[in-house]
Amino acid sequence: MQTGECFCGEVKYQINGPLIDPLSCHCSRCRKAFSSQSSNYARIAAEDFQWISGEGKLTSYVSKQGFGLLFCGTCGSTLCGTFDGVIHGITLGCLNGEPELDEIHHIFVDSKASWEVMPANVTTFSTGRQPADRRE
Ligand SMILES: [Zn+2]
Ligand SMILES: [Zn+2]
Repeated sequence: MQTGECFCGEVKYQINGPLIDPLSCHCSRCRKAFSSQSSNYARIAAEDFQWISGEGKLTSYVSKQGFGLLFCGTCGSTLCGTFDGVIHGITLGCLNGEPELDEIHHIFVDSKASWEVMPANVTTFSTGRQPADRRE
């Protein structure tokens, strides 16, 4: 079982299943959405996800396309991604301890911020990945 929580600790969750296909996306949209040089997230199965505390503290933002983000309303940590209101992913930064993760793939590195220096020896993709590249 994997747990995660926000910066202030009011919102906590657990995941009773695998963290799927961890990605770091360096596109300009992710930089804004995650207030960082990249997004870092993994998919999960919705049925594996459970709030432990603080669900009532959550606020959200939903795009016109139906993609959403859930935040702690107290400290602002970005915890989960949603689609049509269903949780489909979590941000790696809010995971506790040492999560069991496959190698993180870095996507859209051609549009990374000018000030970001990519680490050596990471797997990068110029843009997104073709479906055939996905490891399930
Ligand atoms: Zn918080
Ligand atoms: Zn992105």
